[in-house]
Amino acid sequence: MMRPQVRPWRGVAEGAGFFFMHRSSHDYHYLTQRWRALARGAGLRLVLIATVDGFPVYCLKSPALGHGGGLYLSAGIHGDESASTEGLLAWAQRSQAQLRHLPVLVFPCLNPWGLVMNRRSDAGGNDVNRLFHSDQHPTVAAVRETAGPHTFDSAMLLHEDYDAQGVYLYELSKRASVGESILSAAGAVLPKDPRPRVDGRRARDGILRPRLSLSRFAEIGHPEALWLHLRGCARSITFETPSEASLEKRVEAHAVAVARMVELLPWSVS
Ligand SMILES: [Zn+2]
Repeated sequence: MMRPQVRPWRGVAEGAGFFFMHRSSHDYHYLTQRWRALARGAGLRLVLIATVDGFPVYCLKSPALGHGGGLYLSAGIHGDESASTEGLLAWAQRSQAQLRHLPVLVFPCLNPWGLVMNRRSDAGGNDVNRLFHSDQHPTVAAVRETAGPHTFDSAMLLHEDYDAQGVYLYELSKRASVGESILSAAGAVLPKDPRPRVDGRRARDGILRPRLSLSRFAEIGHPEALWLHLRGCARSITFETPSEASLEKRVEAHAVAVARMVELLPWSVS
Protein backbone atom coordinates (compact mmCIF):
# COMPACT_ATOMS: atom_id res chain seq x y z
CA MET A 1 0.00 0.00 0.00
CA MET A 2 1.24 3.50 -0.77
CA ARG A 3 1.86 5.50 2.31
CA PRO A 4 2.27 9.24 2.55
CA GLN A 5 5.70 10.61 3.37
CA VAL A 6 5.85 10.92 7.11
CA ARG A 7 8.53 11.34 9.72
CA PRO A 8 10.60 8.17 9.90
CA TRP A 9 9.63 7.41 13.48
CA ARG A 10 5.99 7.55 12.52
CA GLY A 11 6.60 5.07 9.71
CA VAL A 12 7.95 2.51 12.15
CA ALA A 13 4.53 2.08 13.70
CA GLU A 14 2.69 2.22 10.43
CA GLY A 15 4.93 -0.22 8.65
CA ALA A 16 4.22 -3.08 11.03
CA GLY A 17 0.94 -4.85 10.38
CA PHE A 18 0.63 -5.88 14.00
CA PHE A 19 -0.06 -2.30 14.97
CA PHE A 20 -2.55 -1.68 12.23
CA MET A 21 -5.75 -2.25 14.18
CA HIS A 22 -4.89 0.23 16.85
CA ARG A 23 -2.51 2.19 14.72
CA SER A 24 -3.65 5.57 15.92
CA SER A 25 -3.08 4.74 19.59
CA HIS A 26 0.56 3.84 18.80
CA ASP A 27 1.07 6.80 16.46
CA TYR A 28 3.18 9.19 18.50
CA HIS A 29 3.12 11.91 15.88
CA TYR A 30 -0.68 11.88 15.97
CA LEU A 31 -0.70 11.85 19.78
CA THR A 32 1.62 14.85 19.88
CA GLN A 33 -0.42 16.70 17.26
CA ARG A 34 -3.54 16.33 19.37
CA TRP A 35 -1.76 17.42 22.56
CA ARG A 36 -0.38 20.45 20.78
CA ALA A 37 -3.82 21.45 19.49
CA LEU A 38 -5.28 20.92 22.95
CA ALA A 39 -2.54 23.00 24.59
CA ARG A 40 -3.04 25.82 22.11
CA GLY A 41 -6.79 25.82 22.77
CA ALA A 42 -6.16 25.92 26.51
CA GLY A 43 -3.64 28.78 26.22
CA LEU A 44 -0.80 26.45 27.24
CA ARG A 45 2.32 25.16 25.58
CA LEU A 46 3.62 21.68 25.07
CA VAL A 47 7.24 21.88 26.24
CA LEU A 48 10.04 19.63 25.02
CA ILE A 49 11.90 18.21 28.02
CA ALA A 50 14.18 15.66 26.34
CA THR A 51 14.84 13.72 23.18
CA VAL A 52 15.15 10.03 23.97
CA ASP A 53 15.68 7.14 21.55
CA GLY A 54 15.15 9.66 18.74
CA PHE A 55 11.78 10.85 19.99
CA PRO A 56 10.76 14.12 21.62
CA VAL A 57 9.36 13.83 25.16
CA TYR A 58 7.00 16.60 26.29
CA CYS A 59 5.31 18.04 29.31
CA LEU A 60 2.41 20.39 29.81
CA LYS A 61 2.65 22.71 32.79
CA SER A 62 -0.21 24.87 33.93
CA PRO A 63 0.56 28.41 35.12
CA ALA A 64 -1.55 27.55 38.19
CA LEU A 65 1.11 25.05 39.25
CA GLY A 66 3.01 26.74 42.04
CA HIS A 67 5.25 25.42 44.74
CA GLY A 68 2.69 23.47 46.69
CA GLY A 69 -0.23 21.14 46.28
CA GLY A 70 -0.03 20.28 42.61
CA LEU A 71 -1.31 17.31 40.65
CA TYR A 72 1.15 15.17 38.69
CA LEU A 73 -0.15 13.05 35.81
CA SER A 74 1.75 10.74 33.50
CA ALA A 75 1.11 8.04 30.93
CA GLY A 76 2.91 5.84 28.46
CA ILE A 77 6.00 4.99 30.51
CA HIS A 78 5.32 1.45 29.29
CA GLY A 79 4.81 1.67 25.54
CA ASP A 80 2.53 -1.36 25.24
CA GLU A 81 -0.09 0.36 27.40
CA SER A 82 -1.57 2.73 24.84
CA ALA A 83 -4.95 3.22 26.52
CA SER A 84 -3.03 5.19 29.16
CA THR A 85 -1.80 7.81 26.69
CA GLU A 86 -5.16 7.99 24.90
CA GLY A 87 -7.08 8.14 28.18
CA LEU A 88 -4.96 10.97 29.56
CA LEU A 89 -5.49 12.90 26.34
CA ALA A 90 -9.25 12.22 26.43
CA TRP A 91 -9.44 13.59 29.98
CA ALA A 92 -7.40 16.66 29.01
CA GLN A 93 -9.59 17.32 25.96
CA ARG A 94 -12.71 17.22 28.13
CA SER A 95 -11.06 19.49 30.69
CA GLN A 96 -9.57 21.95 28.21
CA ALA A 97 -11.40 24.98 29.61
CA GLN A 98 -10.19 24.27 33.16
CA LEU A 99 -6.62 23.21 32.42
CA ARG A 100 -5.07 26.64 32.92
CA HIS A 101 -6.66 26.86 36.35
CA LEU A 102 -5.67 23.42 37.58
CA PRO A 103 -2.24 23.27 39.23
CA VAL A 104 -1.22 20.37 37.08
CA LEU A 105 1.94 18.95 35.54
CA VAL A 106 1.24 16.47 32.74
CA PHE A 107 3.59 14.07 30.98
CA PRO A 108 1.54 12.83 28.00
CA CYS A 109 3.91 9.98 27.07
CA LEU A 110 7.13 9.07 28.87
CA ASN A 111 8.26 6.34 26.48
CA PRO A 112 7.49 7.33 22.89
CA TRP A 113 9.83 4.72 21.38
CA GLY A 114 8.00 2.04 23.36
CA LEU A 115 4.61 3.40 22.28
CA VAL A 116 5.56 3.31 18.62
CA MET A 117 7.10 -0.15 18.90
CA ASN A 118 4.38 -1.46 21.25
CA ARG A 119 7.05 -2.38 23.80
CA ARG A 120 7.13 -2.03 27.55
CA SER A 121 10.79 -1.04 27.60
CA ASP A 122 12.75 1.76 25.97
CA ALA A 123 15.06 1.15 23.00
CA GLY A 124 17.84 0.00 25.34
CA GLY A 125 15.62 -2.63 26.96
CA ASN A 126 15.20 -0.61 30.18
CA ASP A 127 12.00 -0.53 32.17
CA VAL A 128 11.96 3.24 32.67
CA ASN A 129 9.59 2.76 35.61
CA ARG A 130 12.40 1.16 37.60
CA LEU A 131 14.88 3.97 37.21
CA PHE A 132 13.50 6.83 39.29
CA HIS A 133 16.14 6.49 42.03
CA SER A 134 18.75 8.31 39.94
CA ASP A 135 19.25 10.74 37.06
CA GLN A 136 21.01 8.23 34.86
CA HIS A 137 18.18 7.71 32.38
CA PRO A 138 17.57 10.82 30.23
CA THR A 139 13.76 10.64 30.53
CA VAL A 140 13.88 10.23 34.28
CA ALA A 141 16.45 13.03 34.61
CA ALA A 142 14.23 15.36 32.55
CA VAL A 143 11.11 14.47 34.54
CA ARG A 144 12.91 14.98 37.85
CA GLU A 145 14.26 18.32 36.70
CA THR A 146 10.87 19.48 35.38
CA ALA A 147 9.10 18.45 38.58
CA GLY A 148 11.94 19.79 40.73
CA PRO A 149 10.62 23.19 41.83
CA HIS A 150 7.14 21.88 42.56
CA THR A 151 5.54 19.84 45.29
CA PHE A 152 2.62 17.60 44.59
CA ASP A 153 -0.37 16.77 46.72
CA SER A 154 -1.50 14.04 44.36
CA ALA A 155 -0.22 11.98 41.48
CA MET A 156 -1.82 9.57 39.07
CA LEU A 157 0.26 7.29 36.90
CA LEU A 158 -1.56 5.47 34.15
CA HIS A 159 -0.77 1.86 33.25
CA GLU A 160 -2.20 -1.32 31.78
CA ASP A 161 -1.77 -4.98 32.68
CA TYR A 162 -2.11 -8.06 30.47
CA ASP A 163 -2.95 -10.26 33.47
CA ALA A 164 -5.61 -7.95 34.88
CA GLN A 165 -9.21 -9.10 34.96
CA GLY A 166 -10.56 -5.61 35.51
CA VAL A 167 -9.48 -2.17 36.65
CA TYR A 168 -7.33 -1.94 39.76
CA LEU A 169 -4.94 0.46 41.42
CA TYR A 170 -2.01 0.79 43.77
CA GLU A 171 -2.35 3.51 46.36
CA LEU A 172 0.47 5.09 48.34
CA SER A 173 -1.28 7.51 50.62
CA LYS A 174 -0.44 9.62 53.61
CA ARG A 175 -4.06 10.75 53.81
CA ALA A 176 -7.57 9.31 53.65
CA SER A 177 -7.89 6.84 50.81
CA VAL A 178 -9.19 7.96 47.43
CA GLY A 179 -8.76 4.55 45.81
CA GLU A 180 -12.34 3.37 46.36
CA SER A 181 -13.81 6.48 44.83
CA ILE A 182 -11.54 6.33 41.77
CA LEU A 183 -12.27 2.66 41.23
CA SER A 184 -15.99 3.11 41.61
CA ALA A 185 -15.88 5.75 38.86
CA ALA A 186 -13.76 3.56 36.57
CA GLY A 187 -15.80 0.52 37.61
CA ALA A 188 -18.78 1.98 35.76
CA VAL A 189 -16.78 1.50 32.55
CA LEU A 190 -14.94 -1.78 33.22
CA PRO A 191 -15.42 -4.20 36.12
CA LYS A 192 -13.08 -4.06 39.10
CA ASP A 193 -10.42 -6.74 39.17
CA PRO A 194 -11.75 -9.44 41.51
CA ARG A 195 -8.44 -11.20 42.17
CA PRO A 196 -7.48 -11.50 45.86
CA ARG A 197 -3.81 -11.30 44.92
CA VAL A 198 -2.30 -9.16 42.21
CA ASP A 199 1.34 -9.39 41.27
CA GLY A 200 1.99 -11.38 44.46
CA ARG A 201 0.38 -8.74 46.66
CA ARG A 202 -2.90 -8.77 48.55
CA ALA A 203 -5.67 -6.88 46.77
CA ARG A 204 -9.05 -5.87 48.09
CA ASP A 205 -11.79 -4.93 45.64
CA GLY A 206 -9.13 -3.96 43.14
CA ILE A 207 -7.10 -1.85 45.58
CA LEU A 208 -3.53 -2.60 46.60
CA ARG A 209 -1.86 -0.69 49.37
CA PRO A 210 1.59 -2.19 49.26
CA ARG A 211 3.81 -1.95 52.28
CA LEU A 212 6.90 -0.14 51.22
CA SER A 213 10.05 -2.14 51.45
CA LEU A 214 12.86 0.16 50.49
CA SER A 215 15.32 -2.71 50.58
CA ARG A 216 13.28 -4.52 47.94
CA PHE A 217 13.10 -1.39 45.80
CA ALA A 218 16.82 -0.93 46.24
CA GLU A 219 17.15 -4.24 44.38
CA ILE A 220 14.56 -3.73 41.63
CA GLY A 221 14.82 0.05 41.24
CA HIS A 222 12.38 2.82 42.09
CA PRO A 223 9.14 3.23 40.18
CA GLU A 224 7.78 6.70 39.42
CA ALA A 225 5.09 6.31 42.13
CA LEU A 226 7.67 5.60 44.82
CA TRP A 227 9.82 8.54 43.75
CA LEU A 228 6.77 10.83 44.07
CA HIS A 229 5.85 9.34 47.43
CA LEU A 230 9.36 9.77 48.77
CA ARG A 231 9.49 13.41 47.64
CA GLY A 232 6.36 14.13 49.67
CA CYS A 233 3.40 13.53 47.39
CA ALA A 234 0.53 12.76 49.78
CA ARG A 235 -1.38 10.51 47.40
CA SER A 236 0.10 8.56 44.60
CA ILE A 237 -2.18 6.32 42.54
CA THR A 238 -0.99 3.85 39.92
CA PHE A 239 -4.10 3.04 37.92
CA GLU A 240 -4.27 -0.08 35.74
CA THR A 241 -6.68 -1.25 33.04
CA PRO A 242 -6.90 -4.80 31.66
CA SER A 243 -5.05 -4.89 28.32
CA GLU A 244 -7.39 -7.53 26.91
CA ALA A 245 -10.51 -5.33 27.17
CA SER A 246 -11.54 -3.14 24.23
CA LEU A 247 -9.34 -0.11 23.62
CA GLU A 248 -12.35 2.18 23.72
CA LYS A 249 -13.37 1.05 27.22
CA ARG A 250 -9.83 1.10 28.54
CA VAL A 251 -9.38 4.68 27.28
CA GLU A 252 -12.66 5.72 28.86
CA ALA A 253 -11.72 4.05 32.16
CA HIS A 254 -8.49 6.07 32.28
CA ALA A 255 -10.25 9.34 31.39
CA VAL A 256 -12.92 8.77 34.05
CA ALA A 257 -10.36 7.76 36.68
CA VAL A 258 -8.33 10.95 36.15
CA ALA A 259 -11.50 13.06 36.21
CA ARG A 260 -12.47 11.55 39.57
CA MET A 261 -8.97 12.13 40.95
CA VAL A 262 -9.27 15.81 39.99
CA GLU A 263 -12.69 16.06 41.68
CA LEU A 264 -11.19 14.63 44.86
CA LEU A 265 -8.31 17.06 45.09
CA PRO A 266 -8.34 19.18 48.22
CA TRP A 267 -8.28 22.39 46.20
CA SER A 268 -10.84 21.23 43.64
CA VAL A 269 -13.73 23.58 43.01
CA SER A 270 -16.61 22.05 41.17
ZN1 LIG B 1 2.79 -0.30 33.09
